[in-house]
Amino acid sequence: MLRDAGPLTRQQLQALLGLSRATLVERLDTLHRLRMVRTVGHDASSGGRRAQLLEADRTSRVAVVAWLGASHLSVGVVDLAGTVLVDHTERLPLGHTPADVQPWLVDTAREQLSATGRAGDLAAVGLAVPGQIDQETGISITPPTMPAWRDQPLRDALADGLGVEVLLENDANALAYGEYLAAGSRQSTVLGVAVGTGIGAGVVIGGRPHRGATGCAGEIGHIRIEGHDERCTCGRRGCVAALASGKALIRQLRDEGVRSLPDVVRRVESGAPQAVAMATDAGRLVGTVLATVVTILNPHLVRVGGEIGALAPFRAGLAETLTEQSHEVAARGLDVGPAVLGERAPLVGMAGLAAEAVFAPEAVDRLAARS
Ligand SMILES: [Zn+2]
Repeated sequence: MLRDAGPLTRQQLQALLGLSRATLVERLDTLHRLRMVRTVGHDASSGGRRAQLLEADRTSRVAVVAWLGASHLSVGVVDLAGTVLVDHTERLPLGHTPADVQPWLVDTAREQLSATGRAGDLAAVGLAVPGQIDQETGISITPPTMPAWRDQPLRDALADGLGVEVLLENDANALAYGEYLAAGSRQSTVLGVAVGTGIGAGVVIGGRPHRGATGCAGEIGHIRIEGHDERCTCGRRGCVAALASGKALIRQLRDEGVRSLPDVVRRVESGAPQAVAMATDAGRLVGTVLATVVTILNPHLVRVGGEIGALAPFRAGLAETLTEQSHEVAARGLDVGPAVLGERAPLVGMAGLAAEAVFAPEAVDRLAARS
């Protein structure tokens, strides 16, 4: 209640929650002791003896957040308000393995915690990865672009390394959730699209990431485009990822000397005609797929991120077909734009999910029982 509606006085809280005074006092004592609630001045309107105002303390604890992709790893320390205290992105070679990357992730997180002086405040770790996640076992079912990470026990490895609860989320869901938080509305339905080496989408409905029955919701990269038969990394043909992903653009621009995702970005940003045309076409194809998604979900916002998604010609192509082909009423007033948080969107999304987990009543009970 304090996170949603604070700051509030004790009296206002009691009225909103319908708790007895004794129960409320006991719970607030616990929350004060755990540094999860703090006093922020007095309520001027109450007259007489002015009542203290309370708010959720989102800055006393921190989380380590990370975003692993087919060609990069970002690691940062955030507070539970979503402020990024420090972050760092490392480019990774395609085909990287957990044996190479996991120790580096843990070491970098420890260095960042000690550099920010917040090692003692660590409350959770959040990792965003492409593909599906088995939330029961904490194992990722990564896409074909990351074969060495398939069936890796990510949650246990990080919990061993950093000693706190570990949350795993699909990276496009994390992007969508970050953008949902940045939009500042608790009603929004948000579609987040990440186009990097691969293509994924994440959905926030009613303020929660929508994972679907088996964690597969939003895996738009393997929707088939009629009339195409390029082979995809998933083993099938004609997937939009085989035609319009970063990986596809690298292949299509090979004759121009392009060998990597940063090469694609440089060619497009420098205005090379072939690269700009290819990026625009890729955007149009992704827009065609998104038109169907938009018609089904009728979102308030569509936010496009990832290294390819950030390119202006790609986004122009995407907006063109998306507007043309989605249902007229769904398209009307639809806000389509770049991820306002840029490359940090998945990290901020993981910060938000970490805050949800740390402030959950059961988590507070567990913490109170231990301390
Ligand atoms: Zn495919």
